[in-house]
Amino acid sequence: MSPFTYETADSTAAAVAHGGDAAYVAGGTNLLDLMKEGAARPQRLVDINALPLADIAPAPGGGLLLGALARNAATAHHPLVRDGYPLLAAAILSGASPQIRNMATDGGNLLQRTRCHYFYDTGTPCNKRVPGSGCSAIGNLTRQHAILGASPHCIATHPSDMCVALAALEAVVHVESPAGRRRIAFADFHRLPGDRPDADNTLQSGELITQIELPPAQAFAAHSAYLKVRERASYAFALVSVAAALQFDANGRITQARLALGGVAHKPWRRTEAEALLHGRQPDCTAFAAAASALLAGAQAQGSGAGSNAFKIPMAQRAVVRALEMALAGPTSLLPGSKMNGAPV
Ligand SMILES: Cc1cc2nc3c(=O)[nH]c(=O)nc-3n(C[C@H](O)[C@H](O)[C@H](O)COP(=O)(O)OP(=O)(O)OC[C@H]3O[C@@H](n4cnc5c(N)ncnc54)[C@H](O)[C@@H]3O)c2cc1C
Ligand code: SF4
Repeated sequence: MSPFTYETADSTAAAVAHGGDAAYVAGGTNLLDLMKEGAARPQRLVDINALPLADIAPAPGGGLLLGALARNAATAHHPLVRDGYPLLAAAILSGASPQIRNMATDGGNLLQRTRCHYFYDTGTPCNKRVPGSGCSAIGNLTRQHAILGASPHCIATHPSDMCVALAALEAVVHVESPAGRRRIAFADFHRLPGDRPDADNTLQSGELITQIELPPAQAFAAHSAYLKVRERASYAFALVSVAAALQFDANGRITQARLALGGVAHKPWRRTEAEALLHGRQPDCTAFAAAASALLAGAQAQGSGAGSNAFKIPMAQRAVVRALEMALAGPTSLLPGSKMNGAPV
């Protein structure tokens, strides 16, 4: 591990005053691993655990505010999340392990870095870790890599489950810096790699996440599902995951649909035109398959032979249909492995 200085901040103002090149430490479940591997080498750490940012409370205009330091477990089990946003609770509970969820924070979850093996392996070139050094994943083992939105510079995926649900729910990220406060729509928070794969998101240097706002979305609570397809039934990152939510009119027609994919791109993947195909439709397999095709339009496999991720394209197509069927059937199961969650696709 490289040398670093360590400070604690006792107020948001004090934390952001450090700004610049300091790295904030929340749960530390990702940052400290990266530092031990040498994949991250911050020279200054600012511990933000003493900041008053762990509350989960109703937002003034409806919806819910999640403090950036609320632990993933506290968020998933909070009654206002469990009852109003079961999609989010299910997504969080499908990730990591109970111990890690007890430590990991909501703000840190948004900023966790890719699980591309080559990013962690400091002996190999990686444009995300060392800009301009090349991408070791292209043409190599790509099982965990992107099929959508990749670039010739990086084919990594964003590993978060929570973020897939937040994308579908159209969350808003509140951030603060010495320059002031701003709000970032979730769709604009993470970015595609383009020619700057080192930048995972649109945060400016030194900006602190203070809260994550969930818009009023209780109408989705009755019909939502998070489906995660992975190598084993727990403690594994998604090969493909789907957040699906539906609303219906009195005649059973779909009035609103939300769909987001995880494990397939550098950010949670959403296309509103795919959702629009479901509006006004009766919920059936034909409509679901058309929405899945639109969501996956342009998907491209990486690698070849045993290292290829071509299997992810049909897997994602079927997972979207399955997740929509699960959402149609009722509220999502909060326990990964129960209901149809984790079933083979
Ligand atoms: C073994 C293992 C398995 C896992 N499996 C899954 C999984 O299946 N699904 C899943 O979604 N996740 C999984 N995770 C990832 C886990 O969810 C993240 O490590 C965790 O959410 C990060 O939160 P943290 O508070 O520990 O962040 P930290 O490690 O403290 O920080 C992560 C990054 O965020 C920055 N940061 C933290 N808080 C703020 C803030 N408020 N403002 C600005 N910057 C901030 C830090 O500077 C750092 O860059 C797994 C992790 C491990 C170790
Ligand atoms: S896919 Fe991205 S993170 Fe992985 S080696 Fe290539 S540049 Fe690095």
